Amino acid sequence: MRAYNFSAGPSTLPLDVLEEAQREFLDFSGTGMSVTEISHRNKAFSQIVEEGERLLRELLHIPEDYAVLFVQGGASTQFAAVPLNLMHNGKADYIVTGNFAKKAFEEGKIYGDAACVASSADKTYTYIPDLKNVPFRDGTDYVHICSNNTIFGTRYIEFPETKATLVADMSSEILSREIDVNKFGVIYAGAQKNLAPAGVTIVIAKRSLIQSPLPLCPTMLQWKVQDENGSLYNTPPCFSIYMAVLVLRKFKKEGGIKAINEINEYKAGLLYDFIDNSSFYTNSVVKKYRSIMNVPFVTPSAEQDESFLKGAAKEGLVSLKGHRLVGGMRASIYNAMPVEGVKALIAYMKKFEKDNA
Ligand SMILES: *Cc1c(COP(=O)(O)O)cnc(C)c1O
Repeated sequence: MRAYNFSAGPSTLPLDVLEEAQREFLDFSGTGMSVTEISHRNKAFSQIVEEGERLLRELLHIPEDYAVLFVQGGASTQFAAVPLNLMHNGKADYIVTGNFAKKAFEEGKIYGDAACVASSADKTYTYIPDLKNVPFRDGTDYVHICSNNTIFGTRYIEFPETKATLVADMSSEILSREIDVNKFGVIYAGAQKNLAPAGVTIVIAKRSLIQSPLPLCPTMLQWKVQDENGSLYNTPPCFSIYMAVLVLRKFKKEGGIKAINEINEYKAGLLYDFIDNSSFYTNSVVKKYRSIMNVPFVTPSAEQDESFLKGAAKEGLVSLKGHRLVGGMRASIYNAMPVEGVKALIAYMKKFEKDNA
């Protein structure tokens, strides 16, 4: 029996994609080799990398003057790559809206004068700060934000107007809603939330901004080098890239990001409506900033949370435990979570409430 997996990441992948990968596992593209065995210089594989780039450009409407890269090290490595590629004046602003935004900020401080110019830490990250009144500094190289906050369940509904280059960590929401790439200098995202197995990270960067990485920037972290080598400077995470391409093909077939976003809004709407109409469950995020990807909630007590999670697992609703910083539950309902999974969760929540309220 396949579980409904609400993990925040690595997370559920589309069943038909997993089955396709299984069918193709021993013979990738007629080569007589598994995709896990083939050289990354083999034409059949380099075509996969090119297709991945093409599909990302098409789905996200990425302009030609942006590089689209597949790199390793997870989003956390990009916390360092951002200053190492962009911090020419040694100065950057960060908006801190959660745990990963804070980690990015801490990493930025290693390389220069990084300042937290706005934060929602005062209310345990349950909102996004007012973007009209952020005291951005002059002469900064970039402003860094985290557009969807995986642990606390918030998201930006609009993006700040900044004189400096806007950089966004979109790990937990990439490809879940339409975005205007032109607003950003750099977007990066670990793939293991919404796109592929762990191992590959997407970087979308305006080429004119990435031509002179800092002298100390490791070669592997130089976006320029990755771009010049078509993401094949060294051995890439071949299997994760292959899986990403299968998922991207599916997103395209399903009508692209607009269509996917409508389903995501519908799924999140079902769950939030149910929570809001219940006097048993609570989500404490300011409504307009609620994430449509990560939905944290609690019952009236920690004991009931525990028993909720135990009962859920028995019903095949797994990985619902909230992050240790927040407690309670968190349902991550990424692109690959079917509507039926959300409905099954709500049915269980109803039953649990009836038995325990
Ligand atoms: C998961 C996550 C990260 C960390 O990703 P890694 O690939 O594990 O380094 C960073 N930022 C956000 C928003 C995330 O959701």
